[in-house]
Amino acid sequence: MQTFKDFLINISLLTSFLFLYTQLYKRHPLEKIQLPMKIVMGASAGILGVILMNFSIQVTEETIIDLRNIPLILSVLYGGWLPGLITTVFIVVFRFLIGFNISSIAAAILIATMYIGFVLIKRKQMSLYNKTFWFTLYSCITSTIVFIYLIQDLVVLVRIVVLFWTSSFFAAFAMVYLLNYLRQSYALLKQYEEASTTDFLTGLGNVRQFDEMYNQVLQQTIEKKEELSFMMLDIDYFKRVNDTYGHKEGDEILKQISAILKYQARSFDFVSRNGGEEFSIVMPDTPVEKAKQLAERIRIEVEQNQFILTTEQSINITISIGISHYPTVQDPIHLIHFADQALYKSKSAGRNCVTVYQSIENNINS
Ligand code: GH3
Ligand code: MG
Ligand code: MG
Repeated sequence: MQTFKDFLINISLLTSFLFLYTQLYKRHPLEKIQLPMKIVMGASAGILGVILMNFSIQVTEETIIDLRNIPLILSVLYGGWLPGLITTVFIVVFRFLIGFNISSIAAAILIATMYIGFVLIKRKQMSLYNKTFWFTLYSCITSTIVFIYLIQDLVVLVRIVVLFWTSSFFAAFAMVYLLNYLRQSYALLKQYEEASTTDFLTGLGNVRQFDEMYNQVLQQTIEKKEELSFMMLDIDYFKRVNDTYGHKEGDEILKQISAILKYQARSFDFVSRNGGEEFSIVMPDTPVEKAKQLAERIRIEVEQNQFILTTEQSINITISIGISHYPTVQDPIHLIHFADQALYKSKSAGRNCVTVYQSIENNINS
């Protein structure tokens, strides 16, 4: 009964530790991990190994086993040779700290042998679960050799071997399943998060992200007493493009325009698709002259660009732009409204031009 209780404690420890680990590092997926994360992974698995050595499973009055092989399996399986090496060092050092004797030397050789075997098996082309099977089998075989060497009593030996094999296989597969499940859940969550803030067609921010980001930028502008420029862009006679070439080709142009906007905007500008064929760029801490220069660059590039349709036909289009600027507009809440007015002015002035809200009265259009 004690043995089963100890086993349950070990499984609970493993489960909670892995859950905590994936919670802490959920922004770092288990695949394609960078060097610092590899070190963190190796050390975490090492700590888990040490914890498990302290929560060993009582088999008989004098004999205990523990599941230190499981963190090492996971460390090499998901991280590779470096995390595995770190985990091995943690376990060996801790074992020697408990006591330097024949059984700690045997334990150190055993864990190092496991590590080398895991690294070699890891190189083989196999599914994750197949690797888990071979890792576990290898760790059970090597451990059994050490058990035979250390334990003379045949009954105890058989008991230990059976318990070690069953608990290792159960723990290894349960933990790999758990890690995969958590990893997939986080990947899906990330995917949904991205989809809810990104425009499906162009990959730009969508209206939802725009609202959120715009409010943040407004707040920052007021708090830091900065300037803020805002640009609205609308494709000229886009309905004609759709009518002439079809909606699908229209979509193609929307994608290409988006690429131009992304390329021209500076790294700290926020480009969004605000619906249909209307776009906006929020330019934090930007004087109106700079905003106007950027708008002109975009207008000219769109005008000069050959938009390639899926039929390989190329067409030209133009874009009209309206700009508003804070503190020219006294209340930044009205920036969108005034940029829209400026855009309207660009349209009525003949399209393919940039209008700055403050210049409307002076009628300065580019
Ligand atoms: P202008 O802006 O110069 O006044 O003329 P316009 O023809 O572009 O007029 P408006 O901006 O009102 O037209 C919007 C058109 O954009 C209507 C619709 O055919 C097209 N449109 C809106 N959303 C999409 C879209 O997602 N894909 C495609 N292909 N076309 C769209
Ligand atoms: Mg429009
Ligand atoms: Mg339009």
